[in-house]
This record gives sequence, structure tokens and C-alpha cells, in this order.
Amino acid sequence: MINNKEVEDFFAPGGLLQNNFPQFEIRDSQLTLASKITRALNDKRFLIAEAGTGIGKTLSYLVPVMLWAGKEKKPVIIATYTKNLQMQLAEKDIPQVQKILGTDLNSTVLMGRGNYLCQTRLRLLSQKKDSFSARLLPEIYLWAEETLNGTYEEWPFSEYPEIWPLIAADADGCHGQFCRYQEKCYLQKARRRCQQADIIVVNHHIFFSDLQLRCNEEQGFLPDYKVIIFDEAHHLEQTGIDFLGTDFSRREFVETVGEMRELLQKLQKEKKDALNFVQLFSILQGLEEEAQALFFEVNRIISSQEPRFIEPSWWQNLQNCPVRLCEKMDEVDHNIKTGEVEFSEELQVARGEICNRWKKNIQSLDYFINLPERGFVSWLEERGRNLSLRSLPLSVDDFLQKSFYPRMDSIVFTSATLSINDKGLYYARNMGLSPDRTDTLILGSPFDYDQQATLLIPREIPAPSDKDFVDCSGEYFKKIYPALGPRSLLLFTSYEMLNSFHSWIEKFCDREGIEVFVQGNNAVSRIISEFKNSSRGIILGTASFWEGIDLPGADLTSVLLFRLPFPVPSDPWINGKALELQQKGHNPFFDLMLPRALIRFKQGWGRLIRSFSDRGILIIFDRRLLTKSYGKNFLNTLPDRLPVREGEAEELLQAGIKFWDRAGEIWTEVEK
Ligand code: SF4
Repeated sequence: MINNKEVEDFFAPGGLLQNNFPQFEIRDSQLTLASKITRALNDKRFLIAEAGTGIGKTLSYLVPVMLWAGKEKKPVIIATYTKNLQMQLAEKDIPQVQKILGTDLNSTVLMGRGNYLCQTRLRLLSQKKDSFSARLLPEIYLWAEETLNGTYEEWPFSEYPEIWPLIAADADGCHGQFCRYQEKCYLQKARRRCQQADIIVVNHHIFFSDLQLRCNEEQGFLPDYKVIIFDEAHHLEQTGIDFLGTDFSRREFVETVGEMRELLQKLQKEKKDALNFVQLFSILQGLEEEAQALFFEVNRIISSQEPRFIEPSWWQNLQNCPVRLCEKMDEVDHNIKTGEVEFSEELQVARGEICNRWKKNIQSLDYFINLPERGFVSWLEERGRNLSLRSLPLSVDDFLQKSFYPRMDSIVFTSATLSINDKGLYYARNMGLSPDRTDTLILGSPFDYDQQATLLIPREIPAPSDKDFVDCSGEYFKKIYPALGPRSLLLFTSYEMLNSFHSWIEKFCDREGIEVFVQGNNAVSRIISEFKNSSRGIILGTASFWEGIDLPGADLTSVLLFRLPFPVPSDPWINGKALELQQKGHNPFFDLMLPRALIRFKQGWGRLIRSFSDRGILIIFDRRLLTKSYGKNFLNTLPDRLPVREGEAEELLQAGIKFWDRAGEIWTEVEK
């Protein structure tokens, strides 16, 4: 048990935090959140905690968690969605709280597998005698010996990004406990550190991987834990859905068979008489023929069906196909393994990799063909000549209810965007959280929105579905540009609209000396850093720019949303989920499309004000905000005190200019 007094003493005026950081601004909501988390830990409860930007939620959970871990001597997991937050926790926040609390807890971070150097793959690379290897390998070897954690973060050869994937750990090629480099393996070392640690920072995907091992009654790589904090918890559901889904692609299938053929050819060259190669090539040939027949049948069925969502009954004739394919490859593998010859290490590793990849592929195929009757949506995707068979679960609630919640004492789900209309019901339902065990806390941002921001809604723009929408909003943008400040983020819901808008304003931006940064033309991190350095710039972004972008102060002076961000109805998962809701008597618009759009909307406008000194203008071009009955749901997600003004372009231009007169031009310093 933790005494809440200790938590109060940390956050209260004149408390530990302020003593260490005198400039720190006391925020009541930060203490409220920390106390609620303390109760969740003490009373073994689950908590959904939405904490608006500026509350300082990281400290709010770190303090009780570290006090709890110190007292109970039991590990706590913190799971984030992004690597950035993982690193910030490990390198800055946890050491800071440790120092203030005077604790010496053992904390560690476990990143995704691909972030670690694989010693086996490095050795294999050294066997490839090309000019590149000869030149750079000695230096890479030296680094591999000296690096602390063997992670990409420490990789000093960033000018050769193409090398890392060749030597990074990879699930298909990993020998695990049978690896001869076990002791030197950085991934294994990181996992061993987890077993000794009090606080372990992982990502959502690692959490699911560990959980699945436990479901299969294998040993997880995390220590047994009873307490977990999910930060960026709005991503957890989708991560779980993707994790539990499967993807079987024709290209990967053909490539894997091709690799096995190449391997056999190499083995034949190495030891000509060691195996019955004629027989092995013939098995492989049979396997290819069976696969061709399978794809032919899949294509035949699909082209005769509408819609392209799969019914399990379609595949009755194919049900045994995955087993047969598996048996054939097993036969090849078994023959190679039992051949009385020692093949080179390179060929042994390649065999393991190919077979592991094959097994995963066949598992996906099996899942696709022998689908459970309900609860999954499956569909086909054709990209060029490739055909993918995809299956995703429609929800994760059942999986979590059966395999996760019963063994947990306390779980905290926290993020800046979890609630709809100030309630956590939507999140709780999707995650399968029972009201008996789960509390909810919603805390808005502590910012002074009536001074710091203003919302402008253009009146004369047609609806986004109108053919003139892009032209009109482009014209409007030109008129109102003088009120936007030097750096604006323009958010779209599709590349199509983004590109049309870009064409419309390109000449204007050239003439005005505005630098335009378009999503897709560069890496997000590069766009952000160049945008920050521009004296006048605009970003045109879609999906990934609606969240996770942190541009405080004068780095961002306005956000423009062009369309309310409803999910795309033709997205197979959305379509499948809507059908499921309909069958259960729910309304897919109110129970799926609207809640998802509201969360996205909150994330989008939430880019504008990131700190107490920020000032900014929000413009929403979608008139449905005013004309549709659901428009008020969007307006209700905005802070109560945010001034709202609707009008013609000239009126809004004047309102914007007045706003900056009143608020002070925060970018003046920057322009100097
Ligand atoms: S255990 Fe796996 S990741 Fe580690 S060195 Fe061996 S093969 Fe590579």
C-alpha cells in the first residue's frame, strides 16, 4: 500500500517537485490524477484516465508507480505506443523522478526486436565478400563490441541506413535459446534485464507478444506482473487487432518457395551427394503446383462473389490445403536436417529462416481458410500482381477478458483522448472493461483557452462532398492567410483532397514565399524539423499528422481542419465492424463512425495548444459542424472557454488579426 500523503507531498505547493524545480507550476489536476492512480494501485482497480495536454500525466503515474514498486517489491510494466515516449521515459522522466524521490529502483527499457543488433546476422554478413563488407565491416565489428545496448539508437553509421535491416534481430531468423551467441546477444540481454527490473518500459506490441506467449502456456519474456500502465492507450485496441490479425500474401509465398529452391541449389553445390536432391526438388515442385491451384481457386471464388468479404463456407474444398502445404515443406526441411552432412552456418541459418517464415505464412493461410465463424473480418487485397488474404478480429475485448484481465490487479489506461462527451464508456466497451472493476477520470487541459486560442468557422464554404469544396477552401485560405501566423498545419482526411488543395494553392505559396511541406514527400521527422526552421511554412498532412506532432510555442501558430475525420466506410475492418453492430441491433453511425471521428477530431485540434505560452488559431472548413445534428458533438469536444466565431472570409480575417493583437505576436522573436 502507498500512503497518498506521500503522493500529495510530492505534487503539493512547496512539495518535493517544486523544491527541485522552483519554476514548476502547480497543477491541481496533476495531483488529482496521481491520487486516483494511487487508489487504483492500493485497491486493485482498473482506471481509464483521460488527461488533457498540459496536465503532466507522465509524472502523475510515475510517482505512485515508483512508490508502489519500491514498497511492494514487485515489477510494474509501462507500455507506450511510440518509441519516442519509451525513450523519453527511460532517459528523462524515470531518472528525474528517481532522483527527486531518492529511490534506487532498477528500471529498464525493452524495445521491439528490430531495434537490436543480431550477432548471428552480423556474422553472416561478414561471409558475404563484397566490397562494401570489406570496407565497413571492421568498423561495425568494433562498434558491436563496444556498444552498450546494441540498439539502433546507438548505431553510429546512420549514413548507411540500408545496412541496419541486414544485421537487426528478426523473428524468423532468431535461434533463441539455441543461438551460439546467446550470451552476447543484445536482445537476450535486454530481456534478461527485464527479469531483474522493478520498472519495465515496453511498447504495446511487446505487451501483446508477451501475453500471447503466456496464453500458449509458454514463458513470457517479461517478469510476472500484476500492475501495468498503458500510456497512449487510445492506440491499444488497434494494436491488439493488428497483432491478432493475419496476412497471407502470394508474393511472400512465391518468394519463400523460391528461396527454398535456391537453398537446395546451394546445398547441392556444397555437398552434391549428401541428399536425394532429385526427390527434394520434386517435392518443391509439387508444393508449387498445389499453391498455384490454391490461388487459382481463390481467384475463381472471389471473382464470382460480391462483396469481397469472405464467408467461411466459400472455402470448404480448400480446408485441408494448409495442412498439405505444411507437410510438404516439413518433408523438405526434415530431409535437409537429417542429411548426414554439416552444411555451412550460413545455409543452416537460411534454412531456419525460410522454414519459420513458411510456417507463419501457412498459419495465416489456415486462419484465413478455416476461419472462426464469427468475430473476424477477412478480405482480399490486390496490389499490382500481388494478392493478400487478410483477416482481422473485429474486437479485442474477448481476448483481453479471457487472457489478461483475470490475472491482473491494477491497470491504468491513460491518454489525452479516450473519452466521448466526457465519458469513458466507449473506450471501456471496446476494451471489454467491466464497470465493476473500472473507474473513469476525465481531466481537461489546464490551459487558458479563452486567451490562448480562437476557433474560426467559415460560413460560405460548401460541404466537403461538393465538387467546389477544394476550390472554395483554397480561395478562402488565400484570403485568410494573413491571420494565420507564420507556421500552419493543414489536416486532411485523404491524399486525394490534400493533393488537389496543394495544386490549388501552389502558385500563391510560391508568390508569398511560403514553404510548403507535403506529407509523403519526406520522412515526418524531417518535415517537422524543416518546418520549424522555416520563417513561413505550411504542412499539408493526413493520417499521421493528426496526432503525435508536438510543436509548442511559435513553431505552430494555426491548425486548419478541412473535413471532419470520419472513418472511410469502405475500409474492410470498418465495414465488417459496422455490419456486426447492425446485426446486434446497434446503430453503426452512432456506435462506430461518430465516436471514432470525435476522437480523431480531438487529436487534430489538440495539436494547436501544447503549453501555457502557446497561442493559436483553429479553423474548421467543414460546415457540417453547423448544419448537421451531430455537429454539436464535435463542438462539445472543444474546451468550454474557447471563443468561437463564424462568418465570411473578411470577418474572420479581422477576427484573426484582432486575436493576435490581443494575444501578442509570439513569433516576433523568432522572425528576428
Ligand atoms: S539470439 Fe536471436 S537475435 Fe540474438 S544473436 Fe542469436 S539469432 Fe540473433
